[in-house]
Amino acid sequence: MDILHFYSIPLHTHNISPINTHTLNTPSSHTLNTNMKTQSNNPLLLIKLLTLHSLLVLSASQDFDFFYFVQQWPGSFCDTRHGCCYPGTGKPASDFGIHGLWPNRKDGSYPSNCDSSNPFDASKISDLMSQMKSDWPTLSCPSSEGLTFWGHEWDKHGTCSESVLDQHGYFSTALNLKTQINLLQALESAGIHPNGSEYSLTSIRDAVKEASGYTPWIECNTDSSGNSQLYQIYLCVDSSGSGFVECPVFPTGSCGSSIEFPSF
Ligand code: 5GP
Ligand code: 5GP
Repeated sequence: MDILHFYSIPLHTHNISPINTHTLNTPSSHTLNTNMKTQSNNPLLLIKLLTLHSLLVLSASQDFDFFYFVQQWPGSFCDTRHGCCYPGTGKPASDFGIHGLWPNRKDGSYPSNCDSSNPFDASKISDLMSQMKSDWPTLSCPSSEGLTFWGHEWDKHGTCSESVLDQHGYFSTALNLKTQINLLQALESAGIHPNGSEYSLTSIRDAVKEASGYTPWIECNTDSSGNSQLYQIYLCVDSSGSGFVECPVFPTGSCGSSIEFPSF
């Protein structure tokens, strides 16, 4: 029986989103019964309060179900009407780069900016710097080394999974995920090259599925001439960051059936 129904807690009246009750860390009902006799003459109220407390702790510590691991194609970030700026280290490699690791809920919503008391601190990832610069390059203007981009991603998304991954864990997990799927190689093996040609959305999706084992989400943007192009590729990751899973829900938006893959 669902623990919430067992204890008759009316969740909607406490503003708590539905959560996975399997992970509830509450004392067993046997322990509760024992404590109940000794600690309260209103046992039902005590149980409700204890359960509510556990739910509040749990919902504050992990308010998401999975991650989107998002990689961007630099050519499609740069050829829009906004343009781009290379980091001080020069033009990044002609490869997909990390955009972010975003905690998300199964209903499609997502938490953001969860803990202003734990801001990005570059000194916590000093050992990851050279990999950050090559695998998570920033392309926005004005030109910067990447700290602003990484700080934005940590503050907006990383703080919402801090109960699972601390700052070092968040960035090292994303870097590690990138090594597990080589998107460019996956596409090129299927004859899909960044040369400005058009490819079917289905062929791009199939190529990533073939290489990774999981169905990706493809996001498009528009180049300066108005053509729809391959911008970002999303894969889903389980809530501990340990590996890819099928996406419980896909983002919204559409690409059109044929899209450009620009060079970089
Ligand atoms: P856009 O509105 O350009 O699609 O997204 C802007 C930003 O909102 C993204 O870079 C990301 O930070 C956040 N965002 C957009 N869609 C999602 C989503 O489905 N899940 C999560 N977690 N964040 C998203
Ligand atoms: P999100 O869209 O995840 O909220 O964050 C994107 C933010 O990071 C924007 O403020 C954007 O200007 C900044 N940013 C810095 N470098 C990059 C980059 O290379 N790609 C993208 N998409 N955003 C970047």
